[in-house]
Amino acid sequence: MNDIYDVIVIGSGPAGFTAGIYSSRANLKTLIFEGWQPGGQLTTTTEVENFPGFKDGIMGPQLMTEMRAQAARFGVEYVTKDVTKVDFSSQPLKVYVDEEEYLAKTVIIATGAKPRMLGLESEKTFWAKGVSACATCDGFFFKEKVVAVIGGGDSAMEEANFLTKFATKVYLVNRTENFRASEIMIDRVKANEKIEILMNKTVDEVLGDAKVTGLRLKDTQSGETSEIEVDGMFLAIGHIPVTDLFKDQVELDKTGFIVQKEHTMTSVPGVFAAGDVADHRYRQGITSAGSGCMASIDAKKWMEDNE
Ligand code: NDP
Repeated sequence: MNDIYDVIVIGSGPAGFTAGIYSSRANLKTLIFEGWQPGGQLTTTTEVENFPGFKDGIMGPQLMTEMRAQAARFGVEYVTKDVTKVDFSSQPLKVYVDEEEYLAKTVIIATGAKPRMLGLESEKTFWAKGVSACATCDGFFFKEKVVAVIGGGDSAMEEANFLTKFATKVYLVNRTENFRASEIMIDRVKANEKIEILMNKTVDEVLGDAKVTGLRLKDTQSGETSEIEVDGMFLAIGHIPVTDLFKDQVELDKTGFIVQKEHTMTSVPGVFAAGDVADHRYRQGITSAGSGCMASIDAKKWMEDNE
């Protein structure tokens, strides 16, 4: 355990696995902390249609399984645990899982982002009792039920369509009069007879007793409230970066994303960031994978320049 790794990657989405593939293929001694739930956000999505190389699309979990195996082929070591602490104050850099200490010359942070919540007490009360942020994981529980999807981006469109495989009806609740999603995704939703679109509405309260029974909605223009009967609510309102572990270690911007100072390097020499954790603009599987490659090349170059 006290060997010094050339590269420790924290995170196992497209950025983390790609950083692993490039680092191990460059003969760097590489360890990936993949967490208790490896694979990142793509493991909670259905079909990925826009990752080049798969003309008929590929299921998100399958894509991540392939990436993980590809990195393993070149000798990456995996630790299937969550990192609990880091100390980047001196070389070697230190990464901890409770009392276990791991040392590295460079670290690539690729911890991604997690679902944004509305901030309602009632959404916490009914979490996993009808409230979810993952249609792929929980859609099955809503066979022959009525659900609402909150949001107006591509995720919301995708979740709404997916949920019609199970639910008898899906409300799509968007807070403005315009969707943020791409036209092709909006068109699919509009063509789906099981989806009813509610514009200019926010969720005021999740209603229920033991489980969700409905939502109180507020019209953002008139201020009027109304209620819809639903058995479930799926949040698809974007993501926030997973950077709590690093907030006293590397510079973050005001929304919590990691700041990259020189190419993919953070404010700490030898510490790099890749994927959604440092990207509030593109946030795609393919851009994450690309930045994992970039971080690995940057880490190798940094080691060469500093040894
Ligand atoms: P986005 O940030 O694109 O969209 C978030 C949506 O949630 C917006 O409609 C936003 O509204 C709304 N929202 C945010 N906060 C709240 C709130 N508190 N209450 C109500 N609504 C809220 O996130 P996505 O997860 O949809 O997409 C992220 C990225 O992933 C995008 O680049 C997208 O293109 C991509 N993607 C691609 C897919 C594909 O190609 N198959 C599938 C899924 C995602 P507002 O617009 O008013 O801010």
